[in-house]
Parts: sequence; C-alpha cells; structure tokens
Amino acid sequence: MVRELTDSFGRKIENLRISVTDRCNFRCRYCMPEEGMTWLDHRELLTYEEIVRITRVLADLGVRRVRLTGGEPLMRKELPTLVAGLAGIAGLGDIALTTNGFFLAEQAGDLARAGLRRINVSLDSLDRDTFEKMARRDYLERVLAGIDEALRAGLGPVKINAVLIRGVNDGEIERFANLARSSPIVVRFIEFMPIGSDDGWSNDRVITTAEVLKRLGELGFPTVGVTREDGQPADRYRFADGAGELGFISSVSAPFCDTCNRIRLTSDGHLRTCLFSTAETDLKGPLRAGAGTHEIRHIILKAVAAKEAGHLINRPGFVRPDRTMSSIGG
Ligand code: SAM
Ligand code: SF4
Repeated sequence: MVRELTDSFGRKIENLRISVTDRCNFRCRYCMPEEGMTWLDHRELLTYEEIVRITRVLADLGVRRVRLTGGEPLMRKELPTLVAGLAGIAGLGDIALTTNGFFLAEQAGDLARAGLRRINVSLDSLDRDTFEKMARRDYLERVLAGIDEALRAGLGPVKINAVLIRGVNDGEIERFANLARSSPIVVRFIEFMPIGSDDGWSNDRVITTAEVLKRLGELGFPTVGVTREDGQPADRYRFADGAGELGFISSVSAPFCDTCNRIRLTSDGHLRTCLFSTAETDLKGPLRAGAGTHEIRHIILKAVAAKEAGHLINRPGFVRPDRTMSSIGG
C-alpha cells in the first residue's frame, strides 16, 4: 500500500493546514470586505470527527505537521476538543494555530493543555490607529493581552505575522524589529498577496523582503545570514548579536512553490493543493456518503498527484482564486 504523499514534481507533502471555520470577527482590508460576507451553514462545516478522520488518513500517508486556521479558528466552539483529537493521531509531530489573537487570552491555557504546541498571531500594527485601519476593528489591546497569555501558557516562542502594505504600515518595520529583539517573539513579515476580494492590491503596494532588509540595514540593525528549514516558507534572519529573530515570507517576490510541501483542507471539506488553486477536491461528500478509508486515501492521492507547479502572481495567466483567504484557510 502507498504510504507516501508525493506530487508529480517529487514534492513530499508533510504539512496540512486545516480551516475550521470561514467566520471571522475582524475585517482585515487585505482579506475580506467590510460588508456582505456570507457564512457557511454549520451543517456544511466538517465536524471535528470528520476532520480527525481525514487527518488520520493523511498522517498515515506521511503528513507530519498540522496548522489550524480559518477564518478565525478561535470562533469555532470547543476548539481544544479538536486539538486533543488531533494530538491522539500517531505520527503527527506538531499541532499549531494561526489566529487573530482576539480570543487568545481566554483560550490559550486550554489549548496548550489539549496539546497545541505553537501559535502564530496575525498582528499588522503596534499602533492603535493603524491597527484599526487595517483590521477595521479597535482591538489592539486585546490582541496584545492574548499574546501575553499565550506566552504564559507555554506556547512560546509566539510568532507574529505582519502583512506590510506600502503607505499603511510600512513605517513600523523598525518597531517590529525592535519587538523581535527585545522579547521571545519572532516577527515574520509576509508579502501582501493578491487574494482578498476588497484588498486594493497592486504590485507597488507590496513591500518585498529585499526592501525590508535594505531598510533594516539603513536603520543600523545588525542582521546576519539567512536559513530556511526544509519545506518551510520563511527565511529566518538572526541578528549579529544573537538577540531575536525575524522571518520573511516572500510569497510574491520569491515564491517557495518549488519546495512547497503543504496542502489545505477547507472548512467545508475540500482539499486544496495550492493557496491559488482554481479547482478543489471534495472529501466531505464522499465521507458523508459512506466512503471508507481506502476510498478517501485514493481520492487524496489523486488530488495530490495533480498539485500545481506553483502560483503565477505577476505572470501571464494568473487567476485570482474565487474564494477569499478567510474561506480557503490562510
Ligand atoms: N484569522 C486568522 C488570522 O488572521 O491569523 C487565521 C486566518 S488568516 C486568513 C491567515 C493569515 O493570512 C493571516 O496571517 C493573514 O495576515 C494572512 N493573509 C490574509 N490575506 C492576505 C493577503 N492578501 N496577503 C498576505 N497575507 C494575507
Ligand atoms: Fe479575519 Fe484573519 Fe482574514 Fe483578518 S486575516 S479578516 S483576522 S480571517
């Protein structure tokens, strides 16, 4: 029996991102519009049992790391129950979460006790007004309290994900870099991607990794060498004096497609082999129609074999996905 998930380009799939809900209490400008979002009916969401079942099949095929995301994953009720279910799957080494941080202060302890290992908090600004401008919500204080609680609960090192947009928050590069140097927090700069429905994306609004590094150099930060762990999207920069770490995800200027080893499970039970896929594979339908493990494995293997070479941002033929990042699971 096949025990490995390898696509037609020889990339071995080891990372799974699971979206547990499409709902969100923020309205980040680069992700979703202020008004008019419609949400999936609860019955359309995969149940926790279904998620665990699919993940077990994937773990058996070699998936080693799982990240829960959304929408806002902490809006899904009793998330620690799912974390505990996933923690019981043999072979899964790592369970992580990406969150906007709003509910973190109240949930961090339970999540850690259930088996969560690592957490990424999306935080695009440390300035209250800019935060509100980007998230369309005045919630900075709550997110900061959530990060403190996550560190207390043992979920460190917490990683902060910041999407930089020219003219909006690119004035905060120095502030973020200082935060990374003075605390057990890794700040990761993510290039702004053309995927939201109301995002005002244009190439000149993207702050590239090269530009951030240039600015850090001008500001006198002693950045040194890059390392990228196998199959990880971020380039990791350490400071020459050893204090702190920064990460860079250059999805637009230098995509990591060649070594991409991830697939995504949407909250309504579809498998996506690329963030920018234009097609998906339904797993929920067959599962609810009574498909057994063998059949689900077969469907997954077929979908993964057709994993795209990479995305085409800034190249002819690029097509925006017809789902927002929140409904795909970022
Ligand atoms: N709600 C959670 C959060 O914000 O962390 C999880 C879901 S969110 C869609 C996952 C990540 O996608 C966030 O770090 C967010 O910044 C990122 N994201 C959303 N739209 C993006 C875009 N157009 N370009 C780059 N990153 C984006
Ligand atoms: Fe919500 Fe995350 Fe999208 Fe912001 S990035 S609107 S927090 S799903």
